[in-house]
Amino acid sequence: MAETAPQRIADGKVVTIHYTLTNEAGETLDSSRGQDPLAYLHGARNIVPGLERELLGKSVGERLELRIPPEEGYGAYNPKGVQRVPRDAFPDDVELEPGMQFSAEDESGRGVTIWVASVEGTVVTIDQNHPLAGKVLCFDVSIEAIRDATLEEMSHGHPHGPHGHHHH
Ligand code: ZN
Repeated sequence: MAETAPQRIADGKVVTIHYTLTNEAGETLDSSRGQDPLAYLHGARNIVPGLERELLGKSVGERLELRIPPEEGYGAYNPKGVQRVPRDAFPDDVELEPGMQFSAEDESGRGVTIWVASVEGTVVTIDQNHPLAGKVLCFDVSIEAIRDATLEEMSHGHPHGPHGHHHH
């Protein structure tokens, strides 16, 4: 049997990783460990740019400890992204809580994601900054699997299957 070269991470590969994300103080913000791993399509901006860049060329079994600055993570924090809006701007049947995520349109009609920062009576403070904007991201990542993406996954821009995207 011919020995095959190990697959390396490149554009068009579906990569399965386990990760733990901590902040600079060492507090865990998110982790896949003990749960399902994360599958992403490399080159499709499914993950933050700094993480995608560091994973390029790596192979299964490698484990990386990375420190990713905000510019290569969720971006710098923009104070102009914070706004106060009336409670009426949200659906009546939704119990608003800090951290909730909504899709909205900006003045020019572009789709944007907003997060609820706080709720005080009839006033809701919303933030267009990702909750991790302005933060250094410390990732401990291990590469579990690499495979070629299907044409369908390439056209959708995300992986399908057990740890990927589910269509409803
Ligand atoms: Zn899809």
